[in-house]
Amino acid sequence: MKAELVETGVLVIGGGAAAVRAALSAGESGADVVILSSGHAGASGSSFVNINGGWGMQALVGDERTEDNLERFFIDIADAGLGMADEKLVRILVEESGEAFEELVKYGMRFRKDEAGNYLREKGCFSHEKRAFISFSRQNIRDTFATMLHASGASVIEGTALRLMVYEGKCYGCLALNKAGDPVLIKSRATVLATGGGAGLFRDNIVSDGLYGEGYALAREAGAELVNMEFIQFMLGWRENGKIGFIYLDELEKERAFIGVEDEDVLEEIFPCPEEKIDAVRKRLSHYPFSCRDLSCLIDREIAVRRGIKNVRRPEAEVFHLAHAFNGGVRIDEHGESTLSGLFAAGEVAGGMHGADRIGGAMITATQVFGKRAGRSAGKRAVNKGEEALPDLKTPLYKTSSFEHEITMKIADLLSKHVGIVRREEGLRLCLDELNSMDCESFSRASLRITAAKMICRAAFKRRESRGSHFREDFPETDDKYAKPFILRKNG
Ligand SMILES: Cc1cc2nc3c(=O)[nH]c(=O)nc-3n(C[C@H](O)[C@H](O)[C@H](O)COP(=O)(O)OP(=O)(O)OC[C@H]3O[C@@H](n4cnc5c(N)ncnc54)[C@H](O)[C@@H]3O)c2cc1C
Repeated sequence: MKAELVETGVLVIGGGAAAVRAALSAGESGADVVILSSGHAGASGSSFVNINGGWGMQALVGDERTEDNLERFFIDIADAGLGMADEKLVRILVEESGEAFEELVKYGMRFRKDEAGNYLREKGCFSHEKRAFISFSRQNIRDTFATMLHASGASVIEGTALRLMVYEGKCYGCLALNKAGDPVLIKSRATVLATGGGAGLFRDNIVSDGLYGEGYALAREAGAELVNMEFIQFMLGWRENGKIGFIYLDELEKERAFIGVEDEDVLEEIFPCPEEKIDAVRKRLSHYPFSCRDLSCLIDREIAVRRGIKNVRRPEAEVFHLAHAFNGGVRIDEHGESTLSGLFAAGEVAGGMHGADRIGGAMITATQVFGKRAGRSAGKRAVNKGEEALPDLKTPLYKTSSFEHEITMKIADLLSKHVGIVRREEGLRLCLDELNSMDCESFSRASLRITAAKMICRAAFKRRESRGSHFREDFPETDDKYAKPFILRKNG
């Protein structure tokens, strides 16, 4: 089928907070901007469907921006990252967090205040200081981003990117399927990937539909490098009659917080010594996402391995782990550009500014700081190259896989079983073998999901140690041999 042809200066793929921020900066740079998003632009993705009703956003503003405070913010992120975060990107995140906050306020974003009119500040998971601002309401977030989207002047196409277009080593847009399922070839001078994360690849997840890590696969298949793909956040949750939710951590302090299938008190079984139990629970209270960094690791491990554990507050509900957000992604430089020229990335699809664990509230900051940088660099690139003709690209082969749902379900089962918080070499090998044997049409959404799942699994397989967001049963210790981030290189 002949594809409809669209030409633009900057193509932004995605419709979440990072995409809107990137489109705004690209527009401010003087470029024509097209947003391609599978969900509603400015109202889809993790950015706008937080079941917690709002955002925590890490930032230092005004007088708080002393050298000392900035350094402590940097150390907070680096400590959480356990050696896996890129120092240069973390410094940018810290330095530009205040500006990102102020710009959101300028567009109408409100954050909660106390009775005296001072902003409320929270610590955020893994963090040591009360630095995170708390958004006022989900509706206000949506209204703010609608204003930003309007200000960007971007045209919006509802559709799904299937394949990035690469010509002579540079990215020139993508092939997409529009809402009606028809092909659209979007040629651009610069492309910003802002497709969010891949928690939807797991059976048990807490993200909206459509977040299957396709952006990771688009970048990988086009030849860009990715980093830290094995670090995924999982939260404690409950499931009852098809409904799911977070477990509020203060529930752990209650008597018989977790009950086993034989009515046993699970925490007491793990920690026969009461002081140890108190210590483990206290540590668990400081981070919603699982981490093997402290004694509380034993609580989550038991829940993941034992199965069938119930929670005191909802005795009928089963306790389990929910995939929540990715800490790794497309490797970018300080301009937000990937290792593939002309391809930029921002938000959860980008990696490097977070490590093995991530402080709560730093992802929203990253969507704004790196969304702005990526959009601005892409916009400038498009304007500078405005006179050059775009290459004559042919519509590549693509398929709409008839087995998309089945394949996605199979991946979800495999990843949930083998690539959750507790991992083992044999399980990861089995998972990789199964993924490698999965047959599906190339250049379909299903094939992108398989590629994304393989990357996660391969990175998890290579990391023969326990670090941050995952625990290796067969390598329970953190090992200095693995003190560097894994980079998935082209064809690697
Ligand atoms: C419940 C919950 C609470 C959270 N709370 C916080 C918090 O308080 N603080 C914090 O810092 N972080 C938080 N996070 C994480 C944070 O919200 C997300 O990481 C962040 O919003 C991601 O923004 P994004 O713009 O990168 O992607 P998203 O907002 O996820 O948007 C991705 C967009 O890409 C589109 N897309 C996907 N694939 C394609 C494709 N192939 N083609 C075209 N479009 C595509 C989607 O439709 C969507 O519009 C939370 C996450 C969840 C799930």
